[in-house]
Amino acid sequence: MIKLIFYGGVGEIGGNKILLEYKNSRLLLDFGESFKFGEEYFTGWLQPRSISGCRDYFEFNLLPRIKGLYSKEMLKETDLEYQQPTVDAVLLSHAHFDHINHIKFIDPKIPVYCGHGAKVFIDVEEETSPVTYYGEHEYRLFKSGERISVADNIEVEPIHVDHSIPGAYGFLIHTPEGVLAYTGDMRRHGPMSRMTGEFVKKACENKLTVLISEGTRVTPEENRKLYTENQVLELGSRLVEENDKLVLATSYSRDIDRFRTLYEIAVRNSRILVIQPKTAYLFSKVKEKLKIPDPLKDSNILVYYKRKASGSYDEKDYYKWERQFMNKMVTAEEISRRQKDYLLHLSFYAFTELIDIKPEPGSLFIHSMSEPFSEEDVEAEVMNNWITHFKLKFQQLHASGHASGDEITSIIKEIKPDKVIPVHTEHPDLFEKTLNQPVIKPELGKPVKI
Ligand SMILES: [Zn+2]
Ligand SMILES: [Zn+2]
Repeated sequence: MIKLIFYGGVGEIGGNKILLEYKNSRLLLDFGESFKFGEEYFTGWLQPRSISGCRDYFEFNLLPRIKGLYSKEMLKETDLEYQQPTVDAVLLSHAHFDHINHIKFIDPKIPVYCGHGAKVFIDVEEETSPVTYYGEHEYRLFKSGERISVADNIEVEPIHVDHSIPGAYGFLIHTPEGVLAYTGDMRRHGPMSRMTGEFVKKACENKLTVLISEGTRVTPEENRKLYTENQVLELGSRLVEENDKLVLATSYSRDIDRFRTLYEIAVRNSRILVIQPKTAYLFSKVKEKLKIPDPLKDSNILVYYKRKASGSYDEKDYYKWERQFMNKMVTAEEISRRQKDYLLHLSFYAFTELIDIKPEPGSLFIHSMSEPFSEEDVEAEVMNNWITHFKLKFQQLHASGHASGDEITSIIKEIKPDKVIPVHTEHPDLFEKTLNQPVIKPELGKPVKI
């Protein structure tokens, strides 16, 4: 008998934490942090204390009390006794925080498996983000199609899938009592849909007892306008062509496909793409593997440096990793002077730069990420105020990292697993409605026996 316990990603998008048990073997599929993490008890500066390890998390049941999983250090201030690992392996589908952020609590003696590409994103994030720490781990890196023995009687076959971050994988899990599959996060309409196709093909070749499937976009209001990456490119190019002022764009910081698209839009319109030092650093780490332009050599790219105190741009005021792009520096003053020459990538959190840049009224702002989840979204309201203040022309333009509801349905119908378990979705009930197949709706912390 195989036992699955879902400690996250249940009835919500993200935060996947799935424990698989078979005889003496135990493995975890992802160990992420929910987008709504702790919102009942924590807000703004009121956050769990990092010095207390798991203590503040256990108080509000924000981490499962699994024995033999957490490190000695993280359990020090808790009533859960440390014991030697009883979990054999942690498998990470990709490097998004809603799949990996809580690995920092895990015992370093437990190996963490992830793709070569995912590891680069993990390393860069730790190096460049002052708030990110994933802990010490023995990482074991895999490639698509390899078959890895991760525990007694369990072999895992990672197969790459297309998602909004490179290095994303689904898993086939081979046990003596059948093959299970886990999609991770995936889409079929992206530039690398071929990879998702490979996952589906492999899943079809095995008679699956269970498919654990993501369902981010399995929603009742599926009819919102959704684009492919290519449509983002074509529409974006046209919008920029029609605009003779500054173009600003914001997108997810590690969506390499979108950066490629923005680069292409800039080049087509004889503009220079301006990226932040963190993006330049990420580009420099993955340029060969992912065939993206070298920010140090490509004349269509410049790197934006924020002004430090008293208007200086002194090398010593920047982090070491930031410094290497300083001879490709462009400043707010320069962008302000020649607004129509640039396509500036600027995150919402860096909007204060607009005060120095002074965009002309009618400058274009391409919001190339998901629309805000709810109407009461405070950030969305603040963003709107900035847009109104600077008289920017707002354009929503995004291709999702997740398969549409219809795509998920057709993938499941193609694979024909014995049972489907929906995760990473707010609407597991909709799976039942659209599929003529048994669906198991997981309940938080309650074992599902197979
Ligand atoms: Zn996710
Ligand atoms: Zn993801």
